[in-house]
Amino acid sequence: MAYEYTKIANLAAYRKPAPHLYGRIAFLAKYGEQDLLLLKDETGSIYVFVTLSESDESLRFEMNQIVRIHRAMVKRLPLKNVDAVVGKMGCSIVVWPPNGSQEEPSAVSSKTWTRSKGDQDRINELSALKWGSGTMMTTADEMADYMIGKRDTKRIRDTVDKIWAEMQANFQIQLAKKTRGLFWTPQGAEVKTPQLEYEIVKKFFHPTRMSFKSFFQLVIDCPKCSEKKKVIKYTENGKAKWCPTCKETIQLVVGIRVPVNVLSGYKIFLTIPVKIIQTDALESCENDVIECFDRTADRETFGRAKKFQRSLQKFLNGCTIKNIEGIVVTRSIPLKTCIIYVNDCLISFE
Ligand SMILES: [Zn+2]
Repeated sequence: MAYEYTKIANLAAYRKPAPHLYGRIAFLAKYGEQDLLLLKDETGSIYVFVTLSESDESLRFEMNQIVRIHRAMVKRLPLKNVDAVVGKMGCSIVVWPPNGSQEEPSAVSSKTWTRSKGDQDRINELSALKWGSGTMMTTADEMADYMIGKRDTKRIRDTVDKIWAEMQANFQIQLAKKTRGLFWTPQGAEVKTPQLEYEIVKKFFHPTRMSFKSFFQLVIDCPKCSEKKKVIKYTENGKAKWCPTCKETIQLVVGIRVPVNVLSGYKIFLTIPVKIIQTDALESCENDVIECFDRTADRETFGRAKKFQRSLQKFLNGCTIKNIEGIVVTRSIPLKTCIIYVNDCLISFE
């Protein structure tokens, strides 16, 4: 079986199935019971926290070894990193010596392992990789440089924890500043948040906790009100043909209501038209969704719409939403709630 390997820079957080990756050890240390590795390839570097079970105690790491990890869970914050719990969820590790030329690996976490021609090519490429020649210096590299002076385990662990906590705090401060700023943006005003990156609240992905009507929204696209007055209105009437305000002929747009993580106590909901999220992998059922709002839809239609909801939930799982451009639909300072209609955004899996 041929495996597909993801380059370090392209590793996406929280994706399932978890990706496979290759890298060469550029830094290693003990982090409590775990091994902390900095793996590099041509595209970047990433920290890997390796947790071994008692049975793989023979797995020892050395500088410049080539490491192959199958089914590694990638996490996003505070700095993209890999959590490799060997033996869990299919996670396994094979380590080759630095020059990669030997037939046998230096260590394996599982008795059954394979090496294809593709693997040998990759091992050779990584063996030949020279640091500094076209390899980018990343935050992770800087962190490793900083830790090299701290050889004893406890100090390395403290250093990692400290840098991690600082990054996390910095992220929170940025989020707080920008979120509060949003609450001073008047209704109908345009929102452009190129630097803001939101994670969707966990509940959104739960298959049953989001009812059909708390997931989908029907937005009235009135050529007069939406464009000129910057007013966005919602409806639950799937047969609506005219704007309730100006009686103009309207279109209905199917959106999803996406609650995002902000400061505790604050709530931001994004209305994202499904058209923005559309990919080839998602078969759109906009008309079915519109029909379902009427309660006249038959079981089959409702089934298709529910399936569409589920595939959207699955597709968006693990993403963040950034580069939001939209308008403020409503906001309430006392309730600390803000709704934004999104005209454009970037769904990011990095
Ligand atoms: Zn109107």
